[in-house]
Amino acid sequence: MAGAGLTSADGNQELFPCEDCGRRFAADVLERHAPICRKLFNKKRKPFNSLKQRLQGTDIPTVRRAPQAKSQRVRKSNWRKQHEEFISAIRAAKLCTLAMKEGRPLPPPPAPTINPDYIQCPYCMRRFNENAASRHINFCKDQSSRRVFDAAQTAARLASRAQARAQASPPKE
Ligand SMILES: [Zn+2]
Ligand SMILES: [Zn+2]
Repeated sequence: MAGAGLTSADGNQELFPCEDCGRRFAADVLERHAPICRKLFNKKRKPFNSLKQRLQGTDIPTVRRAPQAKSQRVRKSNWRKQHEEFISAIRAAKLCTLAMKEGRPLPPPPAPTINPDYIQCPYCMRRFNENAASRHINFCKDQSSRRVFDAAQTAARLASRAQARAQASPPKE
């Protein structure tokens, strides 16, 4: 009884699929595995089914739909506002150029269309709504510090390159 009967002629053990997980096991292993697997499977299956039932309920789709519609609306109005500001900026610039050409006093600056709820970025002075501001300011801070760092690095690189060239080139005669 060394399990020799379970080994086929070519040396491979005959394997049987587990009814619950479909994995294949030798008969003696399956005997031990099957009851454990069934227990595990039943445990796993229960929360899965209840989750499925919850997903089939009406609360999740409505929760999901609401913020999407909101963000779309916000984006649209932002786009329109930005577009209007862009147009008025162009118009103001044109008036300025015309006034300068004709030697007339410059027109007064256009009325500020700044939304008081907007937060100004201290790095680029642009204004953003509350949601975008914190994200942008972090980004802008990062960008501005990186720019300074890059400039310093570029200067250092150029200096060392110039030095290397001076050393490499033969002295002038
Ligand atoms: Zn199994
Ligand atoms: Zn900024």
